[in-house]
Amino acid sequence: MRSLLALFAAAVPAFASAQPVSVTFPNPLSRSRNYYMNAQSAPIIIRADRIVDGKGNVIQGGDVVVENGKIVRIDKTASGTPTYDLKGYTLLPGLIDAHAHLSWYFNRQGRYHTRADGDTPVESMLSMAANAYATLMAGFTTIQSPGDPEDKDLREWIASGGVPGPSVLTSLSPFNNERMEPDTLRALVRQRKTQGADVIKIFASKSIRDGGAQTMSDAQLSALCGEAKAQGMRTMVHAHSSESIKASVNAGCNQIEHGVFANDEVLKLMADKGVYFDPQVCLVFRNYLDNRAKYEGIGNYNEAGFAAMEKALPLAAAMYKRAIHTPGLKVIFGTDAVAGAHGRNAEELVCRVKDGGQSPLDAITSATSLTAESMHLGNEIGAIALGLQADIIAVRGDPTKDITTLRNVQFVMKGGKVYKNER
Ligand SMILES: [Zn+2]
Repeated sequence: MRSLLALFAAAVPAFASAQPVSVTFPNPLSRSRNYYMNAQSAPIIIRADRIVDGKGNVIQGGDVVVENGKIVRIDKTASGTPTYDLKGYTLLPGLIDAHAHLSWYFNRQGRYHTRADGDTPVESMLSMAANAYATLMAGFTTIQSPGDPEDKDLREWIASGGVPGPSVLTSLSPFNNERMEPDTLRALVRQRKTQGADVIKIFASKSIRDGGAQTMSDAQLSALCGEAKAQGMRTMVHAHSSESIKASVNAGCNQIEHGVFANDEVLKLMADKGVYFDPQVCLVFRNYLDNRAKYEGIGNYNEAGFAAMEKALPLAAAMYKRAIHTPGLKVIFGTDAVAGAHGRNAEELVCRVKDGGQSPLDAITSATSLTAESMHLGNEIGAIALGLQADIIAVRGDPTKDITTLRNVQFVMKGGKVYKNER
C-alpha cells in the first residue's frame, strides 16, 4: 500500500507537467490534442511511396515523423526503421467535411429517424456514435455539423478519447425561424455562443425540395451574421437561390452552403468578398434517391421533393464547373451527409472530379487545407506539414491519378493515434 501511494504521488507531478497546452475555447481540436499530450510517445515513422501534403504539393517517397500527436519531421530521403512501412501507398492529410449531420440515421424499422418515431435518446446517441465511427474509418478526421444540440455531447466524448470519431465542430441548433425580430436573433446568437457552439448555422432559403427561394429577410440575416461577427463567431448559411446568396453575402455572412441555383453574378460576389462556398455535386442527392423508400412520406420527402432532387443533379454539376472556374472563389468541401451517406463521404470527392470536372489534386486540397482554413484551423489541421496535428490517412495507389482510391482508405491516424490499419 505504502509503495503504491508513493508511486501515485510520484506520478502526479509528471501529469501536471504534461498539462500546459493552450486551450482556446471553443476549439474542439485543442481539447483533443490536450488528451493525447498526456501520453508522451516514442517517435512514429510512417513511410510511403508519396505524400500529398494537402496544399497542392506531391512529395515522392520519404518519411513522416510523428511525436506527441504532431508532425515533427518530413524526411524526403527515407532513413531509419519505419514504424509503418506503407509500400505502394500514398499519405494524405485526414479529410475534412464541412457539412455532415451525424445525428441523422435510419431507425430499426429501416426508416429515417424523426423525433416522433419512438426511438429513445440512447438509441439516437448510439446511432450518432456509429455514424461518427464510420466517418472516421472512411478517412475523415474532422467534420462540422450544422447542427444539432446533441452534437455537443458527442463532440466532448470524441475529444476526450472516449469514443472513436472525427473531431466535431457544431452549430448546435440552427437558425430557421423567419418570424423572429432582429434583436431576438442577436440575443440567441449570444446564447448559442454561451452554449458552446463552434459556428452559427442559418437557413436563408427553402430546401431544394421546396424550390430554394429566400426565407430570412435581409434585416434578419444582418442581425444574425452581424452579431456573430461581433462575438467572434463564424457563420454558415444554407442558400440555394441567387437572391438568398446575395442577401447573405451582403449581410456579412462567412460561408454559403449548397447554392444549386447560384448564377455567375453571385459566384463572383462570393469570390470578391472572400466568402467560402460549399456546394455539393452528387452524394446528398443520390443518397436520398437511392434510399427513397426510407425517407418517402416524411415531411417534404414526397413525389415533388424527389423530382426536385433528381433535377438538381445535372444543375449542381453544371454550377460546380462554373464555381471552380470563378477566379478567386474558395470552394471548400462539404457533403451534407445524412442518413445513408455516413462513411461514404468520399463519393462526393469522386463526383467532384468525374462530374464536376475538377482535378483530383485540387479536390483533395479543397477537402483538406482549404476547408481547414474555412474553419480557422489552418494552423492545426488540413496538411501534412511541420507542427500540425498528426491526422494522416493512406490509400493504395495514387489518388492524384485515380480519385476513386479514396473510397478505400486503409490507414487512419488521428492526433498521432492509429485508428485503422487494414492493409
Ligand atoms: Zn445540411
